Amino acid sequence: MTTVLPVQTASSATSPTPPPRFVPASVGRPGRVQTVQILDPHFCVLDHVTERMVAVEDISHRGTPDCVQVPTMGDDLYSAFEVYAQLYADPTADDPRLRVAAVTVTDGSREAYLTPDMTDETADELIAFAMRMKEMARVARLMKRTSRTGRRRRRRWTRTTTSPGTPRSASSTSFRSWTARTRYRKGTRPCRSNGSRIIG
Ligand SMILES: [Zn+2]
Repeated sequence: MTTVLPVQTASSATSPTPPPRFVPASVGRPGRVQTVQILDPHFCVLDHVTERMVAVEDISHRGTPDCVQVPTMGDDLYSAFEVYAQLYADPTADDPRLRVAAVTVTDGSREAYLTPDMTDETADELIAFAMRMKEMARVARLMKRTSRTGRRRRRRWTRTTTSPGTPRSASSTSFRSWTARTRYRKGTRPCRSNGSRIIG
């Protein structure tokens, strides 16, 4: 299944966003929790009643996470790794660019914060990257056709790439362990959660 994203038009880029609404939020330490009303941006999907914070200043807002998964041969159940993006706002952040809205991108180990312009720029680079990947796929597909006429070399390839005495690097192992629990779901919305924060 191919997901076609709507092309951003001039009208959609400049259309006004819905105003923030008042929602209840749980604030305080255990035993002294009170419910207060806070202004919540329209994109926020967090439940501020369930997600209690010690102080109002600790409350941030997050939109629905979206992500891309990268599958790997030999593992039909789990993705090799994935990258998430979501809208984010921290009304009391020191950096004024985070107070209204920004976009966060994370691989699960670290989180990046992007302005709208940075997000556009990164998205353009990802689109170009995706087109180069498709060119790699075209070349790889041609190579596969060519190799059918030659001798089967699978055993040799396996022995070369998994030879004992070549330990995985520490970073590779830890990255794998983070992603090992995420199921790969081809053709479906791939996020493992919908409406909850990625990190926190
Ligand atoms: Zn919120």
